[in-house]
Amino acid sequence: MDDSFELYDLKVETIATGRPFVCSHREGDYFLVQGENLVFPETDRFSMYALSAILPLLAAKQRVTDHNDWMYTDAEIACPDPNCGARFRITRTGKRVFHHHEVTIVPLEEENKE
Ligand SMILES: [Zn+2]
Repeated sequence: MDDSFELYDLKVETIATGRPFVCSHREGDYFLVQGENLVFPETDRFSMYALSAILPLLAAKQRVTDHNDWMYTDAEIACPDPNCGARFRITRTGKRVFHHHEVTIVPLEEENKE
């Protein structure tokens, strides 16, 4: 039985808007999202306040969304500090294959098996 599914890998990058940063963000800083993991290959720090604004969207951005869904088109998150000019751009960088049995112990329901 094929229990595979795909999720997008994501890149979340700090981008400038022309307004000054209030927080310690640095333009170009980024992290990756690979399955359940946040990966920081070059960035040694990332604002927890910014992360708090970004985190709720990542699981949705990992999944295929309808072309008419705002989640498909909208990709920039504002820093939660209203005086800070930083934005964080979420980019889908590729797809990764996972297998249901490797990521959960909850069995697939019979109607979902193919
Ligand atoms: Zn900020």
